[in-house]
Amino acid sequence: QKYVYDFSEGNKDLKDLLGGKGANLAEMTNLGLPVPPGFTITTEACTVYLETGETPGGLDDEVATHLEALEKARGKKLGDPDDPLLVSVRSGAKFSMPGMMETVLNVGLNDSSVEGLARQADNERFAWDSYRRLIQMFGKTVQNIEGEAFEDAIEEIKREKGTQNDLDLDAGDLRKLVDVYKGIVREHTGEDFPQDPREQMTAAINAVFDSWNSDRAVLYRRQERIPADLGTAVNVVAMVFGNMGMDSGTGVAFTRDPGTGEQGVYGDYLQNAQGEDVVAGIRNTVPLQDLEKIDKTSYDRLMDIMATLEGHYRDLCDIEFTIEAGHLWMLQTRVGKRTAAAAFRIASQLVDEGVIDLDEAVQRVTGEQLVHLMFPQFDTSAKVHQLGRGMSASPGAAVGKAVFDSYTAVKWSRSGENVILVRRETNPDDLNGMIAAQGILTSRGGKTSHAAVVARGMGKTCVCGAEELQVNTKRRFLTAPDGTEVHEGDVISIDGSTGRVYLGEVPVVDSPVVEYFEGAAAGEDDLVQAVDRIMKHADEKRRLGVRANADTAEDAERARRFGAEGIGLCRTEHMFLGERRQHVERLILAEDDDQRDQALEALLPLQRWDFLQLLTAMDGLPTTIRLLDPPLHEFLPDITELSVRVALAESRGEKNENDLRLMQAVHRLHEANPMLGLRGVRLGLVVPGLFNLQTRAIAEATAQLVKLGKEPKPEIMIPLVGSVQELEIIRADTEKVLAEVAEETGIDLQILVGTMIELPRAALTADQIAESAEFFSFGTNDLTQTTWGFSRDDVEAAFFSTYLEVGIFGVSPFETIDVDGVGELVRIGTEKGRATRPDLKVGVCGEHGGDPDSVHFFHQVGLDYVSCSPFRVPVARLEAARATV
Ligand code: PEP
Ligand code: MG
Repeated sequence: QKYVYDFSEGNKDLKDLLGGKGANLAEMTNLGLPVPPGFTITTEACTVYLETGETPGGLDDEVATHLEALEKARGKKLGDPDDPLLVSVRSGAKFSMPGMMETVLNVGLNDSSVEGLARQADNERFAWDSYRRLIQMFGKTVQNIEGEAFEDAIEEIKREKGTQNDLDLDAGDLRKLVDVYKGIVREHTGEDFPQDPREQMTAAINAVFDSWNSDRAVLYRRQERIPADLGTAVNVVAMVFGNMGMDSGTGVAFTRDPGTGEQGVYGDYLQNAQGEDVVAGIRNTVPLQDLEKIDKTSYDRLMDIMATLEGHYRDLCDIEFTIEAGHLWMLQTRVGKRTAAAAFRIASQLVDEGVIDLDEAVQRVTGEQLVHLMFPQFDTSAKVHQLGRGMSASPGAAVGKAVFDSYTAVKWSRSGENVILVRRETNPDDLNGMIAAQGILTSRGGKTSHAAVVARGMGKTCVCGAEELQVNTKRRFLTAPDGTEVHEGDVISIDGSTGRVYLGEVPVVDSPVVEYFEGAAAGEDDLVQAVDRIMKHADEKRRLGVRANADTAEDAERARRFGAEGIGLCRTEHMFLGERRQHVERLILAEDDDQRDQALEALLPLQRWDFLQLLTAMDGLPTTIRLLDPPLHEFLPDITELSVRVALAESRGEKNENDLRLMQAVHRLHEANPMLGLRGVRLGLVVPGLFNLQTRAIAEATAQLVKLGKEPKPEIMIPLVGSVQELEIIRADTEKVLAEVAEETGIDLQILVGTMIELPRAALTADQIAESAEFFSFGTNDLTQTTWGFSRDDVEAAFFSTYLEVGIFGVSPFETIDVDGVGELVRIGTEKGRATRPDLKVGVCGEHGGDPDSVHFFHQVGLDYVSCSPFRVPVARLEAARATV
């Protein structure tokens, strides 16, 4: 097996094997771009190492061979005392995990090669700076020494020297620093800093492998739903130096603005700096445009290369580059992360430019991004106190109490507070705090700083580089230019779309995208135009129908505006609450047919009115009405309250017959496991007349509307069926009532009767059930509950956090369909149902109907439609189209 690929052997489609960085370095190499030579150790080598604790056999030899080739290409030997080749050892997984894993630069330096490097570069300061960086990174990454030990040491030397700037340290200072660093290594490991270049390299490679399982990488993967078993590739690349002097430097660039999608030159550049200095936000960068003045030749070349890359990848690219003594080198590129708004704008722009077609545009955006655009925004007409302004790093409107460290962010958010994490800059250790916060505000760093990149990835609101705000994290406050101080706990509002920061809570308003879905014209807003165009195409592409779960006419109308093609689930339980509860009580307490009929008669006109409204709102579209589902005792008074009432009456010597009977009924109906008890179809079988009442109300409302010339299309749905016998009995009753109403009204009623599939037994016997059901709708909430045996009301709080932590699942099965278990039941149920009744209409109406991953699954198993909450309807429409490819 081959574990090592030279850059010239790979290409961009080998991300699984070479990781994103390695695959794209190979692609750029093959495009003839200036990439330093190097090779990639595959993710397969990593997974073997992580599984067995040992590097796979033969890897060392392969690395040796490729290293030799690299040495030949550069005409230098690794760590050579006279003219050393140095390499970087960089992580690079399939999916980008910014700053989560490790990199070691300048591998190959030791006490003698540092002198050789100094002579070759004719730059002593540069050589010793490189050496101290190696010891620092190696110490931290490979030897697990606290980074602070090194940072304190460099601060100490700067203090002695009376400066705050790294660049003021001269060769002598850095030489001293190297001695101090070596002391730190000795103190922490009991051994000297390794002098053998090859030993350094092997240790660095293994450390990169190990970093796949670092706490922060594990946490990040869970957040981003990246599978834990992919492993990382390792890139060994000949070093090029951005820290050789002022004609050197390092930078990052985007081919378009990742915040808005606009075309132009976006990026940051830092002179005389190496590697991660830019992303870390340690020193302030200059805008990329300034490079034109600093080094026009390199700037022009960079612009050319960026155009080439955009043309080649047909998408926004981000780039890391280094200039070594006036020579430009490309260190990385990839299709860049972007905000939700930028994703829609760029996809639409690329269609205009003829680069992609609309099919591809639909693939370039996601349902999650659409959700993001539907978030409310700040009301700009409100009276506000603006504290300052930074860069719009990641959009959204976030309000919360200012906190100045991640620990507090996590602690406060656990106790239910909304917080804004305020930092001078963030680093990977802040990940927990960033996840906990509503938004992130930093005073330093550009659009490519750690805070910006990570927040965009998480879809979290972020304003970065608000330099006019003085942030004092030690004393926990910030000062605005107007002198206003914000202390820990004070509420602030940050706008990630404009970069503005406000004191106090700014009111929020609907997003223009929501207004558009509500029926407003697309207008001039280019974002809304892009959404309009992509959604229209998505509707043409998708096969899955999209319906909404809506219980009221108001929700139904909204759902319709959002593009729902029907109602997949109208839950009728709310129609029995409030003032109507008394009738239900009477129904439950009825002692003879007479009393029961009276209660039912009182309910009938009310129910009919409910359905008249709903069916009017959904005129012409299928409307699935589910008969009563929840345990009956939910409609009875609370037992404690009732007991108190009865006891008080007794103490006054009174006796309320009704309350006493109610008490008995509540006791009689009490269940230990109500979700597995007297509910759904079981209610219909046990409480005479209940389902018939609902059926009659639906039928009468339908007849009435038909007479008015409308086109009502109700479908009656029976919940929690487990056996065909249950359904047969209810079905016979239902048909009898429908026939009666048809007879009474003279209207020919076309009303389908179907069932929910929400018990494993129903899925497994779906062939039988389909004999009696004209349609199926999978209730994946209950199906998940009953398949896993998880109480849907309790588990999330009780133990899901542990399950997620130990990796039993990466996401709650109540959120995204558990394909292997619950999904398998959906597949079986659909197949068996259609075996009996080939034209059986099959949908889903659990929460999963609006979840992007689940929508793809439902498309694949061949359902006819998904049904979800009105707000999720556009997401389902988009994802249903994306699932067709
Ligand atoms: C379901 O179980 O998935 C469903 C849609 O019904 P409910 O959530 O009302 O139980
Ligand atoms: Mg259910």
